Amino acid sequence: MAGFKTHITTSTALGIGYGATALTCYDVPLPACILAAGLCGVSGMLPDLDSASGVPKRESIAFAAAVVPLLLAERFKRMGMESEYIVLAGGAVYLFIRFVLAKMLTHFSVHRGMFHSFPACLIAGEIAFLLCGHENLWEHYFNAAAVMIGFMSHLVLDEIWALDFSGGHLRFKSSWGTAMKFWGECLGSNLLTYALLAVTTLASLGDPAMMHKASAAGTAADQQVATQPDDSQRQ
Ligand SMILES: [Zn+2]
Repeated sequence: MAGFKTHITTSTALGIGYGATALTCYDVPLPACILAAGLCGVSGMLPDLDSASGVPKRESIAFAAAVVPLLLAERFKRMGMESEYIVLAGGAVYLFIRFVLAKMLTHFSVHRGMFHSFPACLIAGEIAFLLCGHENLWEHYFNAAAVMIGFMSHLVLDEIWALDFSGGHLRFKSSWGTAMKFWGECLGSNLLTYALLAVTTLASLGDPAMMHKASAAGTAADQQVATQPDDSQRQ
């Protein structure tokens, strides 16, 4: 199993590369690039939220408790909430993540369970998509991709560390195949994971930014039809 330092170093390097590429090649604004790079770096720790204790879990929870309310502030503003209520809601989200979610993770998760899986990676990406409060759909995708790159780097490293080349022969350790998987051993966690994936997918499809894009596309199509000359008029 790759260690905490290996995970965080790799995901941070990937995050810096991701943000730098977006900034230099696609003219993405600097603050959005810095945020995406940070999200990618931290996401390299996310799968190990299922470990019973330790640095990855403690740091990820602390970081999520601090950053999620900040990301949600933009969304709360769009919902028309007054600034006092935004502060209160942010505090409530902080306390929920820091104490309730952290306790739930300790009680209900098993190391190398479904936190280390492809659907979990997709869920993490969709949560990042939903947390982004911007109207621009590309920013939602940009942040979601950053989280998924960081998350996937963790799964890939765990699988690489499950290979043993000692003695000049390739050997697979018992942990091989437990990080990059679609399905785990516990039926209950599998069902819960896919149910959560369904919920986050539906929520993402119903996100205002997604709906705005769909209605804008619909309006453009209507306008195109309206401006096209009628065949009967042409003849
Ligand atoms: Zn891991």
